[in-house]
Amino acid sequence: MKTWLITGGAGFIGSCFIRKVLAATDDDLQSVRIVNLDKLTYAGHPQNIPSPCPKRYELCQGDIADGSLVKTLLENHQPSAVIHFAAESHVDRSIDGPLAFVQTNVVGTAELLNQTLTFYRSLGGRDQSRFRFVHISTDEVYGSLGSAGAFTEQSPYLPNSPYAASKASSDLFVRAFHHTYGLPTLVANCSNNYGPFQFPEKLIPLMILNAVHRRPLPVYGDGSQVRDWLHVSDHCDAILQVLRYGRIGQTYNIGGNSERTNLQVVEAITSIVDQRLRRSGSDASKHLIQFVQDRPGHDQRYAVDAGKIRSELNWHPKISFQQGIRDTVDWYLNHPEWVDVVSSARHDSARHDSARPGLG
Ligand code: NAD
Repeated sequence: MKTWLITGGAGFIGSCFIRKVLAATDDDLQSVRIVNLDKLTYAGHPQNIPSPCPKRYELCQGDIADGSLVKTLLENHQPSAVIHFAAESHVDRSIDGPLAFVQTNVVGTAELLNQTLTFYRSLGGRDQSRFRFVHISTDEVYGSLGSAGAFTEQSPYLPNSPYAASKASSDLFVRAFHHTYGLPTLVANCSNNYGPFQFPEKLIPLMILNAVHRRPLPVYGDGSQVRDWLHVSDHCDAILQVLRYGRIGQTYNIGGNSERTNLQVVEAITSIVDQRLRRSGSDASKHLIQFVQDRPGHDQRYAVDAGKIRSELNWHPKISFQQGIRDTVDWYLNHPEWVDVVSSARHDSARHDSARPGLG
């Protein structure tokens, strides 16, 4: 067995990654044991990994910024990879309180890197040559695009929100630990994800649940902002490719080639919800759409050129937006108990303004 230390594995994307590894049938992944270091903030829920086999999975509640805890975990479990998902991830929250983002995304990542470097240096030749640190980041570090073009790995870093600035900073620390100390790092910058188990403050689950319960559907500004949507399962496949075959020190951009305006996303959701709940005419959910004051500094357009990961690592998205969004609506309709559990979890910080559309 080999062990991977996952951070933030009780959140949306990290838990998808863990479920995928634990459910895999190929020998390589079946020999992986996972240690999940997660602070269990309002966004992290152990229920996101339903009934895992205890021989292959262990949850450790704790903070990536707790150096002595990270050191102990690394020494005790001797992982062959650290896959770093943990972050404060919601742009609206970063506007309300940026320092929590600095603490986890910047200070926490730097602490994790520092402890990982000490551990990496302690490894013998073969273990050291196999070791990898994979950092999960976002296309938001590149700022906003005009109506044409797409972010490549060479695009300059121009983050606009405190969230994006904190992720950009964490990417730069990862880069520096590779260049200065030779830590074998890889960075994955992905576009907006959607799919099951996403905390219902983000655009897609928020709109699904509001539509189902006939609550207003708040859309920022005129809804013309464009995002490139990728199903979370495709993102996790891409991370596996980066971990297994990526070139050390490299960055890989990951995207769905699936640009939609926010309004198009909301309209797709209302139309699927209406099909499922047999609503039409004046009853149709699109009448719930309300345009609300735009978010400060709202980026107009993100688009990702995923040519590098496609050509180098033979990755491409398998799930179309049309299929993925239908499946996602169905998942939320079929899992009201999960929605109840995560929405009522006793986290004061979870009581964020749910009337806001929650991108990013
Ligand atoms: P999420 O908010 O759903 O989950 C984050 C997880 O990190 C939670 O389980 C939380 O408890 C944990 N966490 C937070 N602070 C921690 C700390 N100090 N120590 C340990 N654990 C902590 O986020 P997500 O959407 O799953 O995003 C995961 C990663 O992917 C993030 O780094 C994010 O920046 C990146 N990303 C997200 C998207 C997206 O669309 N959601 C797109 C691209 C990249």
